[in-house]
Amino acid sequence: MHEAILYKQLEDCKVQCTACKQKCIIAENHTGICGVRQNREGKLYLLVYGKASAVNNDPVEKKPLFHFLPGTQIFSLGTVGCNFGCSFCQNWDLSQVSKEVKLRLLKEKKPELAKVEIGKFGYELLPEKIVETCKKYNIPSIAYTYNEPIIFFEYLYDTARLAKKAGIKNVLVSNGYESDEALELLKDYVDAMNIDLKSFSDEFYSKICKARLQPVLDTIKKAHALGIWIEITTLIIPTKNDSEEELTNIARFIASIDHTIPWHVTAFHPEYEMKDIPETNFESLLHAYRIGKKAGLHHVYIGNIVDEKHASTHCHNCKALLIKRIGHHVETNSFKGICPECKEPVPGIWK
Ligand code: SF4
Repeated sequence: MHEAILYKQLEDCKVQCTACKQKCIIAENHTGICGVRQNREGKLYLLVYGKASAVNNDPVEKKPLFHFLPGTQIFSLGTVGCNFGCSFCQNWDLSQVSKEVKLRLLKEKKPELAKVEIGKFGYELLPEKIVETCKKYNIPSIAYTYNEPIIFFEYLYDTARLAKKAGIKNVLVSNGYESDEALELLKDYVDAMNIDLKSFSDEFYSKICKARLQPVLDTIKKAHALGIWIEITTLIIPTKNDSEEELTNIARFIASIDHTIPWHVTAFHPEYEMKDIPETNFESLLHAYRIGKKAGLHHVYIGNIVDEKHASTHCHNCKALLIKRIGHHVETNSFKGICPECKEPVPGIWK
């Protein structure tokens, strides 16, 4: 068990977790919404420190990050648990398992057993070992992904600091609920984030995700202001978030921060509690793509579907093909951030 950094002690042996914008107040023996941060005798502990539940060496394009070391591999890890409860979650078997444990233990009136029960998930993978593996195999970056990384803040923070020292970059794939305190601590170690902007409706966020819209918008603005490279992803869910008005609002919001932030519009596949919704067709993705371009975004990408044209990077100025992608495969990766035809700079992290 590892004591958390991000929390405050309150009266009556309660604590307030400050890792994410849920800011849970947690009574003794209980866990927060994510189910992996537990109050024991007035101290908060991270139950999944050094416990990886999913580990892979992925193409960076899979995160998706298209303006970040294209064509390279990224060491990717996640634990169990999430601070959201999205009914369309594509990784629900990892993200929602800690909540199932939490609910069962509450029913059995044994919340204190969370430490033992959550400890059963994943296998030991300490920060030193992660960084050592990346160095051994020349993997240039690490992604904290699969489930929401901010809930395992202390594990990611220790790994990211060690990685940075070793010249390895760090990436968060996140739902955008990082607290300001967490972002301030991470800003010197995290190079890039892919943040989901799942909808532009607070009702969608509260009913479908068990969260709110405004905190996500605030995180996107703050991460950008802190100088972290960001790309935004919206999973296009038929009838739920794909209206012209909603997609226009999302695209305009991104453009209001920076026209050069890449926007990934990706295809939904029926999962978890949304098996009754059909998968997104290509026309809907193309519609979202056109809305993004109309709002003035320089780089809009279609994902979760193989479409070379809309997954490749073109120069915004002269339209020259800069990086050709087929699925997650990059055919040309010698791009250095300046269009060879017209010399227009293309923002991103290219080396
Ligand atoms: S990280 Fe977990 S415990 Fe902490 S505020 Fe967020 S949901 Fe609550």
